[in-house]
Amino acid sequence: MKLTTGSLKEAIRRIVSPRSEGEMDPTVLKQMARGIMTTRPDEIGCLECFEQVDQFVELTLADKNAAEALPLVEDHLNRCPGCREEFEALLAALRSIA
Ligand SMILES: [Zn+2]
Repeated sequence: MKLTTGSLKEAIRRIVSPRSEGEMDPTVLKQMARGIMTTRPDEIGCLECFEQVDQFVELTLADKNAAEALPLVEDHLNRCPGCREEFEALLAALRSIA
């Protein structure tokens, strides 16, 4: 197909058309809505969790109350299977060398 100015304009119009909003996958929208609703204002993200998870592991290994010292990390670990896995792997690794 030969690309003419006319067909290029048509392609751009299709991309920027507000009509495309209604074409969003409803399951994606549902997931987005659920994500917003379960987000607490004081909740931390995976990045913050990752930055503090080593402290959390150290406290756990020292038999200290890690959940009380770092409640937001505890909260995130309960919600996020990925970070939970990371935490458990780190805990197991440090336990094995302790
Ligand atoms: Zn996470």
